[in-house]
Amino acid sequence: MDCLFCKIINGEIPSDKVYENDKVYAFRDIAPQAPIHVVIVPKTHIASANDITADNSSAVADIYEAIPEIAKSLGISESGYRIVNNCGKDAGQTVFHIHFHLLGGETGGKMY
Ligand code: AMP
Ligand code: ZN
Repeated sequence: MDCLFCKIINGEIPSDKVYENDKVYAFRDIAPQAPIHVVIVPKTHIASANDITADNSSAVADIYEAIPEIAKSLGISESGYRIVNNCGKDAGQTVFHIHFHLLGGETGGKMY
């Protein structure tokens, strides 16, 4: 499949991995928007939040189960962080493999 994040998950394209388990892969964003900016993806290809169904929603739970561990490993559990999922054009989604941005390391601005 011609998907950038599928290629990162299978190692075809290199990434700066920060976490991996059998369902989830996380790597540093190539163009960080915060001192700590990690992209967290499910290993299964789901294009966007629009494609979440009862059959595949466990992929979202898998990501949220990994988040505390990832945040802890990055040292931002206590200072805090923001999770962002962009869906579609108006949110500026550029890669159509669902992903969650983990942003931290500084006090964030307004939510939107
Ligand atoms: P979005 O704009 O929400 O679709 O997020 C896609 C993110 O992927 C952006 O923040 C990009 O900087 C990031 N990105 C694109 N290509 C790579 C790459 N090869 N390695 C790491 N992050 C990437
Ligand atoms: Zn994909």
